[in-house]
Order: sequence, then C-alpha cells, then structure tokens
Amino acid sequence: MADPTGIVILGATGSIGRQTLEVVAAYPGRFRVVGLSANTNAEKMAELVARHRPEQVVMAEPQAADRLEKLYGKPVESGRGALVRMATLEAADLVVVAVVGQAGLEPVHAAVQAGKNVAIANKESLVMAGELIMKTARAKNARILPVDSEHAAVHQLLAAVSPNQIRRVVLTASGGPFLGCSRKELLKVTAKEALAHPNWDMGAKVTIDSATLMNKGLEVIEARWLFGLPPGQIDVVIHPESIVHALLETVDGAVIAQMAVPDMRGPIAYALGTPDRLDLPEKIESFQRLSLSKAGKLTFEEPDDETFPAIQLCRRALQRGGGVPAALSAADEEVVAAFLDGRIRFTDITDMLAQVLDRIPDKPIASLGDVLEAARQGSDLARKLLT
Ligand code: NDP
Repeated sequence: MADPTGIVILGATGSIGRQTLEVVAAYPGRFRVVGLSANTNAEKMAELVARHRPEQVVMAEPQAADRLEKLYGKPVESGRGALVRMATLEAADLVVVAVVGQAGLEPVHAAVQAGKNVAIANKESLVMAGELIMKTARAKNARILPVDSEHAAVHQLLAAVSPNQIRRVVLTASGGPFLGCSRKELLKVTAKEALAHPNWDMGAKVTIDSATLMNKGLEVIEARWLFGLPPGQIDVVIHPESIVHALLETVDGAVIAQMAVPDMRGPIAYALGTPDRLDLPEKIESFQRLSLSKAGKLTFEEPDDETFPAIQLCRRALQRGGGVPAALSAADEEVVAAFLDGRIRFTDITDMLAQVLDRIPDKPIASLGDVLEAARQGSDLARKLLT
C-alpha cells in the first residue's frame, strides 16, 4: 500500500477545516495530518491537536499561540511567516487552504510556488490573484483542487466532455435566507437573520456573502481562473434546494448536472481523494446518499440582479481585471465585518461595494505585491465609507 498522503490544513478550526479533519479521520491508512493552523481559537485547536496529533501547529495570532502552548505542552509557532512555512512543509503532499479571506492568499501562493498540490476552499485568494496563482501552479506542476461545492461539481462535469464541446457552465446558488425579498424588506434584516442560512452551516463571512449573493459573484471569478473559462461562459441560476451544484451545457444543447446532498464533506472528500472516489457514506454514518424522491421538487429561477446586485458587481470587477477584483474582495471583508458588528445595514454592503468599484483605479497586476497593494486600497476605500 502507498504511503499515506501528508495533509496540512490551514484554518483547521473553521467549518471547512473541521469537516476536512472528519474526512481525513475516516481514512487513517490513506491520510496523515502533518500540520494544522488557526487564528485565535486556541481552545478548539487544543481539542483538534489531541485528537489528530499533527506534527506541527501554527496559530496566526501570537497570544493564541502562547495559550495553545500552555494547553498543548509543545512549541507553537505564530505569525504570517509561520503560516507560509506550514504551507510549504516538506512532509505536506496536499495543503488544504480553509482560511477565510485575504489571509489565505500568501499561503496559497507559497504552496504552489513550492509545487504543492492545494485543495482550495479559500475562494478569496483565487478572486484576488487567480491568474497569478494558476500560472504559478502550471509552472510548478502543482494541482489546484476546488473544495467549493459548485467548483468541485464543475471539475467533475468538465472531466466528462472535451473543451470544444462546452457551451457554458452554470453555477447554482441557493439564494440565501432572503430569496424573494424586496429591497425595502432587506433594509430591516439583522445579522442574526442573515446568519441563518437555509441549507449550509458555514463560517460567518461566507454566510453573509451567501445572503447578499456576493458569494456567487466571487464564485464566478473563482471559476473563471480555476477552469480558464471566459466569463461569458459562466452563468448562475438560483436553485433553493441546493441539490444540483453545477450544470454543464454542451454545444448540442444537452445539459449535464452534478447532484448530491448539500454536505461539504462530499466536495472535500472529492478534492482529497481525486482521481479516486472515497466511499464516504460507508465510512461516515451521518453522510447521506442523495434520494431524489425524498428531495422532491427541484426548482430554478433567474437571480434578481436589481435587489441583489452583487453578482453583477463581481462581473464588472472581473471585466476590468488587474487589481480590481482584489480590491472588491478586500472591501467586502470590511463591509461584511461592519454589518456583523451592527455598524451598517444589510443593503449598505452592496451599496458600499458599488461605491468602492466606482472609486478604485485600474491597475495591472504583475506580482503578489501588486495584488496586496490593490487589496489594501480596496480595504482603505471601504473603511473610509464606513467612518
Ligand atoms: P470559518 O470562519 O468557519 O473558519 C475560518 C478559519 O480560518 C478558522 O480556522 C480561523 O481560525 C482561520 N482564520 C481566520 N482568520 C485568519 C487569519 N487572519 N489568519 C489565519 N487563519 C485565520 O470559515 P469557513 O470554514 O466557513 O470558510 C473558509 C473558506 O472556505 C472561506 O474562504 C469560504 O468562502 C470557503 N468556503 C466555505 C464553505 C463552508 O461550507 N463553510 C463552502 C465553500 C467555501 P480561528 O478559528 O482561530 O478564528
């Protein structure tokens, strides 16, 4: 039997990180945890370390590293440099990047520079620097495997057809908790309501992005770079049941769907196991196989771009290119945090992002430094709007 795949998980304490550990633990001979990182949650990390026994542990925040050292009894590194070192560990065969936001960018870039295969949940890094990351990955022979459920679905669909047979791919969106609401109704929604996603249990930032549909806009940009598809070939349809994760239309008018229960452990297992398929429903009792008769009706509708303008904002950013998507993504982190803190209304999120887009200058991207600079400008513009 082959040696177990050495896995590093950045963002191990989060929603994706914990579900990745669940999948990894179900296949002890196949995977080995070599490194885990988190930001501030030393207590959760202490539990994970006790259960999964990684060789190395990093906490981005120094005080959290001190707390974890006391709980764990072994040295714990901290800081961005330590995160980047963990992304390039000799023993890492696959780096799972499940950090949220722009903190994922440098580790993703470092991992592909080092020729590591990366299972990427952190869509923000691809939105900010997709072209650069994919180019580096090609040069270094590193694979980028999507964890996002829609992109994992597209990855599977693309394997079934040759590139000249594709007319378009369609990403599905649940529509979030406010599907069908008017702008007037959206003015009053609270963070608690926005955090109650109907189908997925996710971290706070991606849950708010799902409610505004910014998540789907970011995913259009993510798909553009992951699969090298022109933006005009990437469509979005609202599908509240979240059973169909993506569709692929071929030139002859056939439409192929990828379906599964809405459970992130599925796409995670696909990214970890590919080209094999892991028998997850046999190994994890709570993982359900899809029953279409139990799922009942599957419905689809066009997104309401007027009430939820985020997808169009992302398309505009993608069309302008250069540093604009990085600026928009960084600005989104600021305004989402402000909404969660009760500083702005739900509708202010996309109103402010539209203003950032109007004000951000066009600048080409040649290096990671340029991307970080564009992100800094986007954050600064958003912060100014927030004061
Ligand atoms: P969570 O908020 O649940 O977890 C985020 C993780 O990143 C935690 O481990 C957190 O550590 C760590 N982290 C946060 N900030 C930093 C930082 N500055 N430096 C280093 N580590 C940091 O997020 P999710 O798991 O929901 O999402 C992770 C990524 O996956 C996002 O990009 C999201 O868009 C994407 N994604 C998530 C899906 C989901 O179902 N959750 C679905 C598809 C994509 P700590 O706990 O210590 O704060």
